[in-house]
Amino acid sequence: MVFPWQQSAFEKLHLAWQNNRLPHALLLAGPIGMGKREFSKQLISMVLCENPNENGEACGHCKSCHLLQNNNHPDFISVEAVESGQIKIEQNLKKGDSPQIREAVEFCNLTSNYGRHKVVQICPAEGMNRNAANALLKTLEEPPEKTLLLLVCHSKMQLLPTIRSRCQLIDFSRPDSHLTKNYLNQQLKNNNTDADLLLYLSNGAPLAALNLAEKWETRSVIFQDFKLLLSTKEEPLALAENWAKQDIKQLLAWLISWTEDLLRIKLMTQHIFNQDLADTLFKIAEQFQTQTLLSILDVELESWRILLGTSNVRPQGLLETITINWFQAAKGQWK
Ligand SMILES: [Zn+2]
Repeated sequence: MVFPWQQSAFEKLHLAWQNNRLPHALLLAGPIGMGKREFSKQLISMVLCENPNENGEACGHCKSCHLLQNNNHPDFISVEAVESGQIKIEQNLKKGDSPQIREAVEFCNLTSNYGRHKVVQICPAEGMNRNAANALLKTLEEPPEKTLLLLVCHSKMQLLPTIRSRCQLIDFSRPDSHLTKNYLNQQLKNNNTDADLLLYLSNGAPLAALNLAEKWETRSVIFQDFKLLLSTKEEPLALAENWAKQDIKQLLAWLISWTEDLLRIKLMTQHIFNQDLADTLFKIAEQFQTQTLLSILDVELESWRILLGTSNVRPQGLLETITINWFQAAKGQWK
């Protein structure tokens, strides 16, 4: 489906498609949780379907639609990040990784199997390492006929400017807030969590907000644990063991966000991010020195980098380092 906040962008591209003016490379950019992949999927279906309707929606039952639904369309290729989080030039055949950039470039130079477009999706585009990005440049500059490149990107500033400038930007970073809030309220139904707060905490991204709503209870529990740890009523190793059962990336993202807020309070920045936790965070901030918070934030960010960079990391070990740091800091200053 095309989400309400994407409708006008989709209509423009559909019109361009009907008039043979669709750009050969689109950069779908915006924070995670904006539905960019879903949007990309709709575009791919529109371009490949034999009988899209008047709104550009795929018919769902032609041969092309079937092939696409089975991930088997010979005129479509999807380039995804490999284990390291990067997109490279060469595919690692042994590991069964997704096609990488060289294969995508070769694919663009082939003739389409069904006489329609060939479509390449690259996601996340900022995952391309420098060599991969450079290998794609020529195709972006002089695209073969009837080729559509869809670059899905969560953080467009991380893309090489040479890549950015060769794509038409479809910007999802500032969706209409009425549309996103309405959508969220419809989806939340009986959930009492405040839609405005959820959207605020999710950078305005409605799907991320919905995801957060589902984790709202867990977030409260983790924050309670965090408070107990800082009052030294919770033993750090036991807590780390407990926390390791959670989604570690999410948990660490919360911890980092709370620590950053504590620093904002210390540095007397006007606003803090976790508005719903403000009262408690202000109390906690009184008990720590700025320097202590800075060094703990360093530890947390380092854990974040390790977590993103390697696959065989032991989450509990990372969490132990963090909880011990907080525990010692809390003890040290309360003596
Ligand atoms: Zn179809």
